[in-house]
Amino acid sequence: MPSKDLPVTTEDQALEYVTSCQLPTTWATFQMHAFVETATGKEHIALTLGDVADGTPVLARLHSECLTGDALFSQRCDCGPQLEMAMQKIAKEGRGVLLYLRQEGRGIGLLNKVHAYRLQDQGADTVEANQQLGFAADLRSYSLVEPMLKHLGISSLRLMTNNPRKISAMLGMQIRVEEHIPLIIERNQYNERYLSTKVSKLGHLMQPDL
Ligand SMILES: [Zn+2]
Repeated sequence: MPSKDLPVTTEDQALEYVTSCQLPTTWATFQMHAFVETATGKEHIALTLGDVADGTPVLARLHSECLTGDALFSQRCDCGPQLEMAMQKIAKEGRGVLLYLRQEGRGIGLLNKVHAYRLQDQGADTVEANQQLGFAADLRSYSLVEPMLKHLGISSLRLMTNNPRKISAMLGMQIRVEEHIPLIIERNQYNERYLSTKVSKLGHLMQPDL
């Protein structure tokens, strides 16, 4: 047993909670919680609204960082509109959690995403582009979700996602997904092929044509 004088971080502690503050947004004033990943030093954020630790299922979004979509209004993907819709839904309900996971470009990083977009400009689809660069189609990991939610006192979710991998990733954790809520985003001329590839090659559950 470590004594109280030893550092807080231990080998099995993948994530360290740092601090929290208020984050006023267009839709609500969230609580923002900062975490740092022990192994990599990567910084991650959770936004919460209302009492999320009362034991009842929490409306939730597990959002992986996409700088171009989330901050630069890119129409190459649907990340920005999904983030916005999730925050709006949480604000409307007055209760929920959004984990903002720093795994840019489905885990390949920002510069590699630019390389991948260039290959897509030349005709590859999003999966082929990643593979041509030597990456798996999707390198995202959800291993930090459990310690982040645990810290926030959350054990069951009403998960907003179109991605069955996220739902199955939760199965191995002590997190229950009580409900799956799709986020249907309108297609445009730039994201049409991307969204179709997500359905045909990555198993996403979107049915925007219905
Ligand atoms: Zn994106």
